[in-house]
Amino acid sequence: MDLWKSVRKVADKLLLPDLFAGLALTFKHMFREKVTVQYPEQRLEPSHRFRGMFRLDEDRCIKCTICARDCPIDIIYIDWHQEVNPETGKKDKVLDRFDIDLQRCMFCGLCEEGCPTEPKSIWLTTKTYELASYDRWKNLYVDMDELQQWQVRPAYTDEEIA
Ligand code: SF4
Ligand code: SF4
Repeated sequence: MDLWKSVRKVADKLLLPDLFAGLALTFKHMFREKVTVQYPEQRLEPSHRFRGMFRLDEDRCIKCTICARDCPIDIIYIDWHQEVNPETGKKDKVLDRFDIDLQRCMFCGLCEEGCPTEPKSIWLTTKTYELASYDRWKNLYVDMDELQQWQVRPAYTDEEIA
């Protein structure tokens, strides 16, 4: 067994199979059709598991604040109060604030994972990846309304992409 291992070690050093495997892969890609995406006119569709911009469904949210507590860097800010629902006469929780400071978000998805509602009230699989901004405070600190209305990609103007 040891002899066989030694022989393999010597063969690996002399014949360099890893090097040739790497070169073979390089050559394979050299002759493949090249794909250039003319961004932003063309956009690639991310995979289903891609974590991008958040969405929030306020009606589904039970204001438990688990997502904020699960966030390892504390960038989810939730405030709520109780109000008597005139239809049911029961007290309901009403959101005052649901902000996320995206500047520091690492898109780990722990907030979505911890959310107890089914389906989730907060989720990152919106396939929106265009979060670049010239004004970090304006666009990378999102509030409740922005989290709920983030359905379309931002429409960049010609000046912005020039
Ligand atoms: S994805 Fe991670 S870092 Fe970002 S808000 Fe959720 S838990 Fe926090
Ligand atoms: S964990 Fe889910 S239900 Fe609870 S506050 Fe966050 S988004 Fe709402």
